[in-house]
Amino acid sequence: MLEGQNRQFERKVVKVTDNVFTAVGYHGANTSMIVGSDGVIIVDTLKGPASAASALEALRAHSDKPVKAILYTHSHGDHIGGASAFVGGDKPEIYAMENFGTAEDGINKSVNPVKAKRNVRQFGRNLPPHEMTNRGVAPAGTHDHDGGNGFVPPTVRVPADGLTTTIAGVTLEFHPAPGETDDAMFIWLPHEEVLFAGDNFYHAFPNLYAIRGTSYRDVLNWSASVATMAEFNPKFLVPGHTMPILDQASAVAALKNYSDAIRSVYDQTVIGINAGKSPDQIAHEVRLPAHLADQPYLVEFYGSVPHAVRAIYAGLLGWFDGNPTTLNPKVRATKVARLAGGTMALTSEMNDALTAGDYQWALELSDHLKWLEDADRKLARNAKIQALRGLASREFNAPNRNYYLSYANELESGKLSEIWF
Ligand SMILES: [Zn+2]
Repeated sequence: MLEGQNRQFERKVVKVTDNVFTAVGYHGANTSMIVGSDGVIIVDTLKGPASAASALEALRAHSDKPVKAILYTHSHGDHIGGASAFVGGDKPEIYAMENFGTAEDGINKSVNPVKAKRNVRQFGRNLPPHEMTNRGVAPAGTHDHDGGNGFVPPTVRVPADGLTTTIAGVTLEFHPAPGETDDAMFIWLPHEEVLFAGDNFYHAFPNLYAIRGTSYRDVLNWSASVATMAEFNPKFLVPGHTMPILDQASAVAALKNYSDAIRSVYDQTVIGINAGKSPDQIAHEVRLPAHLADQPYLVEFYGSVPHAVRAIYAGLLGWFDGNPTTLNPKVRATKVARLAGGTMALTSEMNDALTAGDYQWALELSDHLKWLEDADRKLARNAKIQALRGLASREFNAPNRNYYLSYANELESGKLSEIWF
């Protein structure tokens, strides 16, 4: 399934309309060029100048007019770090929302050290070539050596109620669209009926929570922003990642369904919360409605419904699941071992689980054994490595799969110097 998803970001320039071109697969995200009367407008700039320059070279086959403006859909690094490649000597205006830069990583840097490690795992950055597939909505193995080096700060701030302007003879509307980040906007070309969605839409279930670690992404805002996009009835929809949609019926249906899917996960979670259920229970129970789960752009290649449920739970209620047992859990490994009939019994249960392919259970038992002084911790560690690889072999959610494999490799290489073994 993941290999099939590669078709969404094979390197090419897509002709969206006669004057709109989108470069897909030159880095993780997309960059687009709108051709006007006496210049071009660039939407998003990839992560660094080298990949941006190669995308621009390909886009230049369609116009050599000067760059009049650059538009940032939001402040994530994979959309803003390559701007210098487009600036040249042209001195374009650079447009972004007035609250540009408020994406979570920009504000609270205190936990960036651990987020950096988790980011490497989520995206599988250190995986050897034979274990790499892709990142769900982006290819693996992007060139990140110059990431962020080409960032150029915005020169024009879009007010909270939006902005309509004309650049190079092209009418452009900027609409605030909080979702993946609070500083996101979508861009609407009323004459061409093209909508640039930024990262509030791509071909995969949305990453309502990122396992690299994020503060709460307001899920209701995200759903509402995508519903607003659908009301424009775009003929052409250009996502922040993955292939554009080039017919009106599909574009509008995709946006409506995407919004409904997010809303459905939120509503089901809230019903579960108010029924007094724990995040574990709700994460296990919530499903996309059947007519949505079938849609190719809602397959959980990137976001994950259970992860989203937990994020919504924590976002609305914090970490406590309402069960007094969890107020003071203590270390339970010793008691679990006693219940199982001792450390040896626990160990053989773990080995049996591994042999039976019950990898999640093997993982959990290995995590108990690591706390027990009379356990064979090396054996438990090896079981954990095998169980992680077993889980990865069944997983089509790219962040999960990358995380399992990266963690297994770190454990095996002895690089993981944390408290684990
Ligand atoms: Zn992105």
